[in-house]
Amino acid sequence: RATRGGEEVRGYVPSMGQIFMRRFQLVTQFRQALEDGQVSVHYQPKVSLPNRHVLGVEALVRWRHPEFGRLDPDEFVPAVEAAGLIGALTFFVLEESLRKVRSWLDEGLRMSVAVNLSVRNLADAEFPAKVVEALERIDVPPELLTFELTESGVMSDPARALPILRELHALGIVLAVDDFGTGYSSLAYLRQLPVDQVKIDKSFVLGMGTDLGDLAVVRSIVELGHSLGLTVVAEGVEEDVARDQLEAMGCDVAQGYLISRPLSEDRLEAWLLARTV
Ligand code: C2E
Ligand code: CA
Ligand code: CA
Ligand code: CA
Repeated sequence: RATRGGEEVRGYVPSMGQIFMRRFQLVTQFRQALEDGQVSVHYQPKVSLPNRHVLGVEALVRWRHPEFGRLDPDEFVPAVEAAGLIGALTFFVLEESLRKVRSWLDEGLRMSVAVNLSVRNLADAEFPAKVVEALERIDVPPELLTFELTESGVMSDPARALPILRELHALGIVLAVDDFGTGYSSLAYLRQLPVDQVKIDKSFVLGMGTDLGDLAVVRSIVELGHSLGLTVVAEGVEEDVARDQLEAMGCDVAQGYLISRPLSEDRLEAWLLARTV
């Protein structure tokens, strides 16, 4: 590697000022971007193990920015959250997702959709009522909606988050703990959460073929999840071997590039059609 004055040269590194400016632009443009159709939802299929039926999809937001191109949600979701605009993002994704489920039901397909929540959604006491309104208006049964939340999100303010989670759960909405295994709390807290599913973080699933530690973590999450009566989902399934190992462990659901990348609405329809013939 080239060095200059003892420091590594890593090509172009944006300055703090540039990062700040870009974030500022993103948050000020977000609402307009929603209206202009720059923001869309992609869907990644989830399949059951071992029979590989398509159970549903995870909704993942995308932003095609006129100047910056395709933006990664890891860049703009935190900025949108920090700016207090996460409600608009979540309800955009929720409405699109519920309409998708409704159109499948009309075609005789019963598949669920999982929407990612931010901890800030749970700071809104009106959140459950707004979700019920959307479910009723779009006419989707609550059990076909899953919300995915990270444990760190829930645990940053449990006194506020827990009553809202209990309310959502009581409505029949499925709740999943996302990125499981990456936080600190894990085991003890999982018992207290009103959740139905645990999603093993993709870092462990990606590493399980080469790292015995990762394999052990995956195995223990499957066992722990089952002992608590939860459905266990593995994300980041990229290889046949990983899927086979997960299947052998009794993991219930698989999601990852091996099955499919996240797809636009049109490409998802084509993918589903190709699978059912
Ligand atoms: P996440 O909820 O953990 O979503 C899974 C991420 O893993 C997605 O990245 C997905 O494309 C990626 N992925 C799926 N299968 C594989 C695989 O086999 N290998 C690898 N290496 N990656 C895989 P994406 O779409 O870039 O989303 C990143 C994060 O942005 C999400 O992580 C989630 O935290 C957040 N996000 C995305 N959409 C939304 C949204 O609508 N609302 C909120 N609040 N957050 C969102
Ligand atoms: Ca997720
Ligand atoms: Ca995840
Ligand atoms: Ca994540």
